[in-house]
Amino acid sequence: MQLTHLQSYVRPTDLPAAIDALRFGGRGTRLMAAGTDLVLSGSDEITGLVDLAGLGLSSVEDRDGTLAIGATTTLTDVMQDVATGTYLDGVVARMLQRVGTPPLRNAATIGGNLVRRQPWSDIIPLFRALDATVTVFDGEHQTMAIGELYEQAAHLTGAILTEIQLPRPPIGTAAAFWKFARSEVDVATLNCAVMLHTDGDRCTAARIYIGATPRLAAAASGAEETLRGAQLTGNAIADAARTAAGEIETGDDLRGDAAYRTRLVGVGVTRCLMEARDRIREVRP
Ligand SMILES: Cc1cc2nc3c(=O)[nH]c(=O)nc-3n(C[C@H](O)[C@H](O)[C@H](O)COP(=O)(O)OP(=O)(O)OC[C@H]3O[C@@H](n4cnc5c(N)ncnc54)[C@H](O)[C@@H]3O)c2cc1C
Repeated sequence: MQLTHLQSYVRPTDLPAAIDALRFGGRGTRLMAAGTDLVLSGSDEITGLVDLAGLGLSSVEDRDGTLAIGATTTLTDVMQDVATGTYLDGVVARMLQRVGTPPLRNAATIGGNLVRRQPWSDIIPLFRALDATVTVFDGEHQTMAIGELYEQAAHLTGAILTEIQLPRPPIGTAAAFWKFARSEVDVATLNCAVMLHTDGDRCTAARIYIGATPRLAAAASGAEETLRGAQLTGNAIADAARTAAGEIETGDDLRGDAAYRTRLVGVGVTRCLMEARDRIREVRP
């Protein structure tokens, strides 16, 4: 695919210049990170590109336990960073390992994935389960819960996603991610992410997100509620998995039908909850 109608390309070195280039570039101007999605789209509507690579937004930082990821950091750089490896036992690195292939991960950026909001994104359900916040720039910096990106319009318009923050997890927290796919390199038929807060063996709060249903990741709120205050026994986990399978709306596409996906919801939630529980038990004396 090629952008055959492309007339302008700029690579600004500061955020205000990038916003100006976007605003004054005309209707066909788009922000571009790695372009793995944008360029492949081959869209005739795209007449100008504002390349974000010169903005210095590629970094991973441990800020007193909070993991701060610059929006243009490649998936490989996030995955291989020491701070990512230590954050919640490496759950983010394990999830990224399941995204596409090494050549894709070497180019594609975290921000591009979050903004593109493909329903089968593996990053969105985990980052929502981890209660991430994001910073966007539209002339001013603004930080908001990641959910706001998906509750608003289909794409960020006139704004640049600059950073994602994964908050410092309190003691007794663990997270897990599971992806079902037809092959090692295919996108998800269904994916599932969980974060558990515990006090001893008791769950004080849970966040459970299911993606590729085949819609964008959604919370399994009923399942989260069944776990609040519960001992993390096999029965409690089975109960939460049943509740999630009953409440998450699934549909058909070429990767699976609704009934199959509903079964995957139950299996995915069970696996994630068991893994998170076992990780908490491992670190407790
Ligand atoms: C072959 C293939 C396999 C894939 N497999 C998977 C998979 O298994 N799991 C998965 O989750 N994803 C998968 N993906 C999706 C992939 O992760 C995304 O294509 C990629 O993350 C997009 O990042 P990019 O930097 O290339 O974005 P671009 O293509 O540059 O941009 C994508 C969109 O986001 C906008 N944008 C980009 N950055 C910003 C920013 N900082 N602020 C505001 N707007 C921005 C652009 O304007 C554009 O609309 C796959 C993609 C391909 C091509």
